[in-house]
Amino acid sequence: MSNVKKVSNQIMVVSEQSCGRPCTYCLHALKWLPVLFSLSLSSWSYYAYVWQFCRLIIQNEFNKYIYLTVFHVLLIMMETCYLRTIFTRPKMVPEEFLIPENTLEAYRNNPDNREVQAALTSLGSRLPIKTVTFLGGLRICDHCKLIKPDRAHHCKVCNRCVLRMDHHCPWINNCISFTNYKYFVLYLTYAFTYCLFIMSTTFPYFMVAWGEKFQDQTCRYHVLFLFLLSSIFGFGYFTLLLYHCCLVLHNRTTFESFHPPVFRDGGIDKHGFYLGACANFKQVFGVSCWRWLLPIPTSLGDGLDYPVRSQDASKESGSR
Ligand SMILES: [Zn+2]
Ligand SMILES: [Zn+2]
Repeated sequence: MSNVKKVSNQIMVVSEQSCGRPCTYCLHALKWLPVLFSLSLSSWSYYAYVWQFCRLIIQNEFNKYIYLTVFHVLLIMMETCYLRTIFTRPKMVPEEFLIPENTLEAYRNNPDNREVQAALTSLGSRLPIKTVTFLGGLRICDHCKLIKPDRAHHCKVCNRCVLRMDHHCPWINNCISFTNYKYFVLYLTYAFTYCLFIMSTTFPYFMVAWGEKFQDQTCRYHVLFLFLLSSIFGFGYFTLLLYHCCLVLHNRTTFESFHPPVFRDGGIDKHGFYLGACANFKQVFGVSCWRWLLPIPTSLGDGLDYPVRSQDASKESGSR
């Protein structure tokens, strides 16, 4: 018992000491580098497209007006979704999921103790929990000292349990979770459309620039890079978007596609949260279609309690 206390105390002392270290601040600053890179790239694309391409190359005034209007709408939507994905922090796990200190201490000393198991079972029975560990026990997070809600997982980077955790994304320096998953999928959608638009409008001029028929060399390089980078990033966004569309329509997270949930009643079932493609889509995007494409919160539920498909359907797919 004393060892456990000693170990936990050591962890506390180390974390308290490391909080004030300059290297900790450097580490936190480093985590923002991918975000800074992404914002710099979109700033350059703005300058290259608006100033170099539309102002200096496009001669037709009507085309210029259309290009600039569509470009600005896509850029605003893409950046709004990006910033909302970054700054929407995961929702905290409510207090009722916390394990009392004495129960946790007893659990750490002897997880198989009957009294401890009874106390945890009693605690778990008051919570909306349908998933368990592979051995059938409650999913406990020793770091956060709580019973994990369904679909919640501990993120080692954020150092906390995250509701409906999809994955931790270094490009947004945040966890993709219940609170920002819709914004993330929308960001992929707008970013792909943005790249596709730049690609299609610069393509004729890219061919000219490739043939070195441009008098202005600066302008030529901007057009070349606009087309090449939008093609490369467009392909990357398209692949990611396709994957997440599949996840949305199957009501599955990235984490669950590699580690299927174990249900208290039905056992391991990777389709456990499947409600039908349309209902799955509404779980993330909500019910009113005019709000689907807007970066506003419309996901259904509270992030703690999720509807599952009927037991009959589970058995049918299990017997297949
Ligand atoms: Zn945790
Ligand atoms: Zn995280």
